[in-house]
Amino acid sequence: MLGAKREWILIAGILLFMIGLLGAGLPLIYSVLIAVAIYIGIKAYVGRKNLKIRQEIPEGICAHCGAKITEGKCPNCDDIK
Ligand SMILES: [Zn+2]
Repeated sequence: MLGAKREWILIAGILLFMIGLLGAGLPLIYSVLIAVAIYIGIKAYVGRKNLKIRQEIPEGICAHCGAKITEGKCPNCDDIK
């Protein structure tokens, strides 16, 4: 999931792109349709990527070093204890 702040950055970026399309002389309806299509495309891409990460790393990653958690332990941090 995108954080709320990243969501707004994404929306702002797409709005700027839409304004650019309008500036290039594209009619408003097409600019809006392209902007919405890009937004949906990015949301779908991010959703699929997150799903793939969850499937590949079902137990998540270590909050300290970012390594993949296996059998409930971090291979880097928990072995040191
Ligand atoms: Zn770790």
